[in-house]
Formats: sequence, C-alpha cells, structure tokens
Amino acid sequence: MEFDKARDIFGMYVFDRRAMKERLPQHIFNDLLASIEGGQKLDSALADMVASAMKEWALSKGATHWTHWFHPRTELTAEKHMSFMSKDETGMPIESFKGKELIQSEPDASSLPSGGIRSTFEARGYSAWDPSSPAFIMMSKKGGTLCIPSVFISYDGTPLDLKTPLLKAVDAVETRAMRILKLFGNRGLKWAHVTVGAEQEYFLIDNAVAKDRLDLRYCGRTILGCPPPKGQQMEDHYFGSIPSRVLAFMEDVERDLYRLGVVITTRHNEVAPCQFEFAPQFADANLACDQNQQIMDVMRKMAKRHDFALLLHEKPFAGLNGSGKHVNFSIMDSEGRNLLKPSTNHRKNIQFLTFLSALLLGFGKYYGLIRASIASPGNMHRLGGNEAPPAIMSAYLGSAITGILEAVEKGLPNDLPAQALIDLGMNKLPSIMADNSDRNRTAPLAFTGNKFEFRAPGAPQSIAGPLTMLLAAWAWGIDRVADMIEAKGSDVDILEAALDAIKYAAAESRAIRFEGNAYSAEWQQEAKKRGLKIANSTQEALALYLVPEHRELLASLGIMSEREVVAYYEVRLEQYIKTVSIEMGIMRAMLWEGILPAISRQILLEQGALSSLPEEMIKESVLWKKSVANLVSIKNGLIAASEKLDAMLAKIHELEIDEQSRMISEEALPLYVHIRSLSDRAETLIAKDIWPYPTYTRLLNIS
Ligand code: ADP
Ligand code: MG
Repeated sequence: MEFDKARDIFGMYVFDRRAMKERLPQHIFNDLLASIEGGQKLDSALADMVASAMKEWALSKGATHWTHWFHPRTELTAEKHMSFMSKDETGMPIESFKGKELIQSEPDASSLPSGGIRSTFEARGYSAWDPSSPAFIMMSKKGGTLCIPSVFISYDGTPLDLKTPLLKAVDAVETRAMRILKLFGNRGLKWAHVTVGAEQEYFLIDNAVAKDRLDLRYCGRTILGCPPPKGQQMEDHYFGSIPSRVLAFMEDVERDLYRLGVVITTRHNEVAPCQFEFAPQFADANLACDQNQQIMDVMRKMAKRHDFALLLHEKPFAGLNGSGKHVNFSIMDSEGRNLLKPSTNHRKNIQFLTFLSALLLGFGKYYGLIRASIASPGNMHRLGGNEAPPAIMSAYLGSAITGILEAVEKGLPNDLPAQALIDLGMNKLPSIMADNSDRNRTAPLAFTGNKFEFRAPGAPQSIAGPLTMLLAAWAWGIDRVADMIEAKGSDVDILEAALDAIKYAAAESRAIRFEGNAYSAEWQQEAKKRGLKIANSTQEALALYLVPEHRELLASLGIMSEREVVAYYEVRLEQYIKTVSIEMGIMRAMLWEGILPAISRQILLEQGALSSLPEEMIKESVLWKKSVANLVSIKNGLIAASEKLDAMLAKIHELEIDEQSRMISEEALPLYVHIRSLSDRAETLIAKDIWPYPTYTRLLNIS
C-alpha cells in the first residue's frame, strides 16, 4: 500500500513561515515577522496584504471557509465558520477575506460561559488574531476551514477565554527569565521562551460495544459497572505490542497531525487495558496549547472513522488507571539552551539552580492555585487513586538535586562557595542526571532531569488553565529571587548572591518537597504534619481560587483581575455542578431502563425454576431462595435510592450556586457511590443474557 510520506505532507495545512515567505513580498514578510516577534499590532494595510495571501493559500488547498478559532472556558475550542464566498453588486461570485476580518471577529458567543461577566457589564465579546500561533486549515470531507488562532475578550478588555490569561502568564515568566539571564551576564540573548510538551493519555473502546452504554455516550465514563476479573493486575498491557487496529488509528492520527505541523514523537500502550498515550514534540507554550487541542480534535474525528469510542475522561473505569495529561515544561533561550538543563559549566549550573529554586519557591507559596487549576468533576475520580498523583501538591526533585539543595541550605563555607559546589558534584550533574534511573514520579510535580513534569491535569483538560497557574507561581518566584540577588548590590559576586537566594528558596519550599512515595498513607500523615493545605474535594479545591492572596497574585502579574478570577471560579464550579447533575440523570435512566427490569427478569427466572421443583426440593433450597431475596432487597434499595436522586434533581435547580455545589458534594456524590455498589452487586448476580449493558470484560477487549 502507498502512504503519504511524513516529510512530503509535513505542515502542508499550516500557514507557517515557509508559506508566508512564499506568498508575501519580502518587505511585507519582514514587517509581519517583526510585528509577530515584537508582539505589535498589524497596521491595516499590512493586515490586508497578509489576509489576501492567507486567503489565496487557503483556497489553493481547497478551503471554503474561515473562522477565528479560540479557547472558551469549556476546555474545548470554538469556531464559527464564515464563507470566503460572496456576491458582488452585479451578482458575480467573489472570494474575499479582509485584513480587518483577519485581525478581529465578532462571534455571537453569548452562550459560552463567562461567569456572569458579560451580562453584568453588557460587554460584547470579540475574538482577535494571535499571530504567535500560525493559522491552519482544518480539513473536512468536502473542503476545509481556515482557522485563525485567536483570543476571546469582551469589549472592556476582560478575557473570556483560557488563552488570554495563558499568554499573559507566559509573558510574565519570559520577561522575568530575561531579568535573571541578564543578572548572570548573558549578553546578546534576544528572548527566553516557555517550552511545553503535553503527553496525552486516552482509552479506545470498540464503538460497536460502547454505543450500548448510555454512560459512555453521554458522560464519557462508566458510572456503573464491576471491575473485570482480569484488569491490569498482570501488567501485560503497558508498553506491550499495540493492537493492529489501534496502530492503524494512531498512524492515521499522526499523518493528519503531520499535515498540521504537529509531530507525535512517542506512542505506546499505557497501563490499563485499552489505554494508550501520544506524546508530541514540545513547542512554545502557546503553540503547544493549540497543538494539544488539535491532537484531541484529530483523535476524536479519527476515532469515529475507525469505529472506536475515544475516551478522554480522567477515570472511565473504576478499578483501572485513569488518564492524565502530563504537562512537561521548561524555558529555552534564544540560543537554544534549555534553562532547566544542568550543565558542566559551574556558572550555568548556578543559573539552572536559580530557575529551579524560583519555581519551587513559587510552587511552595501558591500550590493552592495549582491545585484549583486541576480540580474537575472527572479528575476527582482520578486524583488520589493509586495510579495518579494525590490531591496533595508536592514536588519531587530526585536525590541529586535534593542533595545539592540540602547542602546549600546547610550553608556552604562562606569563602569558598564555588569550590564547595564542585565538591558536591555540581559539575558532574549532567552525567549524574543521565544515570539517574530514579523515576519515582508519584508527586504531582516532578523534575525529570531537564524539565518539570506536572502530572495532575486531567486528560480532557486544556493545558492552558494549569499552565497559567504554574507560570504565575514561577513568575512570582523569579521576581523574589531576582530581587534578592539585586539587593546584594553589584559589588557582590552574582554566584554568591544567587546561592543565597537559592538557599532561601530551598528552605522556604521544604514543606512541599517530598522524595518518598506520594501515593502512600504515610505521605498523607506527613503532609498534615507539615501543615500543607489539602483540598480533597473538587468544591474545596475550586474555592482556592478565591483565597485573597491567590487573587492578588494573578492581579499583580496582570494575568487576571480579581473580578475575573471570581468569574473563572464560577465557570468551573458550574461545570462541576452541571456535569454531576447530568451524570445523576444518566444514572437514573440506566437504572430504570435497564437495571431494575433486569433484576425483575432474573427474579422471575429463579422463581420459575424454583416453582418447577418438587415440594421437598423447594423446601431444601434455602440458599437459593436467599439469593432471590437478595435480589429483591437490592431492587428495593435501588428504588429507594432512585427516589432520593429524583428529589435531589428536582430541588437542585432552585438553589443558589454555592448551595448546589454543597448538595452535589455532600449528598449526590455519596448517593452515587451507594447506587453504584448496589448495582454492581446486582451485576454479579444476573445472567449474562439478562444484564442490559456491556460489562467491563466486553468493553475492554479490542480484537
Ligand atoms: P519522559 O520520558 O521523561 O516523560 P520524554 O522525553 O518522553 O520524557 O518527554 C515527554 C514529553 O516532554 C514530550 O512531549 C517532550 O516533547 C517533552 N519535553 C522534552 N523536553 C522538553 C522541554 N525542554 N520543554 C518542554 N517539554 C519537553
Ligand atoms: Mg513523562
């Protein structure tokens, strides 16, 4: 069979620099690059030229429409397609796309969540081109749509999306990184960019089986169902041979992504049966965020073509590993140096430790915001499971870095700091790190040798939310560290001044650093002893946005005003309430449509069999009758629970949002657990041909 070669199709649907250069006069191309790199607004003449070139390029690829493509607070992307085609005054068809349309669009997005900001301020929303991420064509069966990556803001400038705060947080870190780089005497560096690579875990289920489950179709997870007798105990799936049907899906996804300029560098089986992972090549933070959305989008579409149900939910199956999104991040300078990579050069190593400890300092102070950013109705089933990071925020550094921080903290000889660090093995760090097979990544935040990995975000989440909070904390940490270094004055050697700041950061971040097994019960105890604030429920975690200190941080960095933080909190709280309410409704439907009638059928079957027996045998069948009675009691229990569910569903709409959230957390969730346990017991007592839904064993089997 013939396949398109990756090289030939790479980036063919991206209006990247190569396409721009081909289609724009040299001076226009230069002006555009200058404005992209300098973050300046395009003037209207330039915008018209760029729009026209973009349109011609898109038409040549078969596109018929364009859209501003933005990231509302639904964790998904939004698009409203506009046709290139119109009629001129003589009725002749013309294809047009103006500079002002490229720069700004006004989707009527009044139904997207804003946390009440738009209705309060009556400000309309508009989307604006973000030229730091290139336009691309989303191909469809019969054409294509030119997508213009955009931010979405209200007319008073309030962000209504996830992207605007991310861009501000990225900028906050990047400008501050330059500050540190200058202190270390790096001359001639033009920029420092936050780099990000988000590993994406997911499940694939045969759609012919999955479609018979209401919960998978509407909730993306099983809300009822017994774990299978053979799950992941044998550890025979992880890194195993990829089933050919899945591999075909992966190859098609990868090829579509090549066309969009996205490289998937790794693909493999994950721990649970039917669980897999893709990891892309890392990119600048903003682009990585867009590319992760593109990856999920291509996966969704491709899964349909391959007759798979794609599950991006954080915990599709009880008793099996859930799916996360590991957000790897670092900073790269304009000479291509990774600033979190240890070096053989002593000065560079102190600089590396400065960046690292600035992150720890920020994380130690603002971990609550980071906890809030990963709180979601799906993630609550995953966090704290045995496979996923716990709900307690901590950082893992590995023994090499921990050893160095401890030594710095204890104090190096005043006269000889540089030599003392060399004695600690600082200049051997790269080889130590490379040999360091210590991959105990049970902590939410782990240093992985040349970058940090944040493992707590849920698989379906946009990385923008968590990344914004991590970067805000880092920006704050960098400022503290830079202030301390500067306060020493220019007479003091930078290395000495930096070591003092590192010492301070190491001491301040001690409570959130943990090298042991973060899944263990001891850590729960230890974390409490250390006085770490622990938010176990989604409701508690989301409330951490509202802590005055947290709101002040985001406002002071210009990432979100205090009012915007409250609005953001409300959007996420509403999502939580709505998701659980929908699940409650689906659970009710599954009970009455399938499970309760199935119990009756089983009872009838048993009763029929029993009554066909001779009198004395019926008398002897004590255990058998008991098992029928057991089914009756399960059925009665389920009906009683379902009535409570109904009462709750009827009442919840009348409550204020905080009361709704309390009801969900304190009443609905425990009821859920109760119903599930009854239903799962019934599942083990009912005949295969009577049980109404595909079981885990059938679902988790791709042939
Ligand atoms: P690991 O096996 O330690 O998880 P990998 O090398 O497989 O690490 O990388 C995992 C993800 O991290 C990939 O998406 C990769 O592109 C990304 N990554 C690697 N280096 C960096 C970096 N410097 N900045 C951001 N992401 C990175
Ligand atoms: Mg990883």
